[in-house]
Amino acid sequence: MDHQVKIEQEDICFKVGPEESVLEAARKQGINLPYGCGSGECGTCAVRVIRGTWEYLYGYTPGVLSQSEIEQGWALICKATPKSDLDLGLRHRLERHYECRTLSARIGKKEPVAADVWCLHLRLPKGESLPFHPGQYVHFILDGGEKRAFSMAAPSSESGLLEFHVRHFPGGYFSDTVLGSLNVGDEIRIEGPLGGFRLDEESIRPAIFVAGGTGFAPIRPMLEKRLGKMMEAPTWLYWGTRGADGFYHSKLIEQWQRDRRHFRFVPVVSEAQSTWAGRTGLVHKAVVEDHADLSDFDIYMAGPPPMIEAAKKVFPAYGLNDERTFCEAFHPGNGAPANKKRGFGAGLRRLFGGK
Ligand SMILES: Cc1cc2nc3c(=O)[nH]c(=O)nc-3n(C[C@H](O)[C@H](O)[C@H](O)COP(=O)(O)OP(=O)(O)OC[C@H]3O[C@@H](n4cnc5c(N)ncnc54)[C@H](O)[C@@H]3O)c2cc1C
Repeated sequence: MDHQVKIEQEDICFKVGPEESVLEAARKQGINLPYGCGSGECGTCAVRVIRGTWEYLYGYTPGVLSQSEIEQGWALICKATPKSDLDLGLRHRLERHYECRTLSARIGKKEPVAADVWCLHLRLPKGESLPFHPGQYVHFILDGGEKRAFSMAAPSSESGLLEFHVRHFPGGYFSDTVLGSLNVGDEIRIEGPLGGFRLDEESIRPAIFVAGGTGFAPIRPMLEKRLGKMMEAPTWLYWGTRGADGFYHSKLIEQWQRDRRHFRFVPVVSEAQSTWAGRTGLVHKAVVEDHADLSDFDIYMAGPPPMIEAAKKVFPAYGLNDERTFCEAFHPGNGAPANKKRGFGAGLRRLFGGK
């Protein structure tokens, strides 16, 4: 039996069939609700259930929602199916929606910028652009229809180029096999913009951005937007990498530091060599070493899932405000069936103290 789902703030109603997730039904009916991994691992699709009953179609991964979110009735709509009619509340109002399109692009530039990181520029066909909200991502559509998610690090509007920061995983289908054989001028199909990881452009609260490795990619355009507003609210960037050779775009960050006196950059290295004179350890720990009270901050985090899980465990003791926390967990793959469980590197889990 179908159930009616209503999104309170937006006056949107749609039907969800049996054994169908709320997100799946919404997308089929052209309703673009925020989501990230699509497999219940990242928390981007969480909504508050105001009225009605529901259940998960398959298992819940502990830690994706905080205990207080669970108690307040938050649910992940990528795998929640209604058992009655539902009234749902979104974390944020839906913003202007950019249509998701599939485009053929060509490699404009491909260069190594840091240890294990490629900076990839895609050139869109003449006259095309791909408007997006800072923080959103695209799928690279690979042969055989496999998809991989990559965040847009800079827009296409001025230069005609879209920028991506791709971490190299040895044996990774895209970042190793496919990318290794791609040359300037080669064609690649992309689909986007996608995702609900976005900057709250109206907020005048202080903000902390936490990037792990190539988690800097979605954060870069967010920071550009926020710092471009000439606002006086303090803005911190904590960027964690394994070694000091993991940072890139240093000129851009130096420029932000020069031009914006309320901007602070804290690079943190987890496996420091003796030549590194800066902060060491795990990036989320550096945040709470500097900020005993996080309650006034908007917090944006992007990067390896274990980093985000670890921060979500530690930050609540420092007053983390769930409503003002925005995350993009870089789960491997994407475009996979929602009920397919995916794992990620045990090394990364260990590094950030995940299970
Ligand atoms: C919304 C979103 C945005 C993303 N944006 C970016 C981005 O801007 N830059 C970026 O570098 N990545 C990003 N990712 C992660 C990226 O999509 C995956 O790392 C992707 O799987 C890499 O594809 P691959 O074919 O090279 O590796 P795959 O063939 O998918 O994976 C092979 C193996 O490599 C390891 N692996 C791959 N990715 C990861 C990972 N993220 N963490 C831990 N282990 C991994 C796993 O062991 C996996 O089994 C994003 C992910 C999501 C969900």
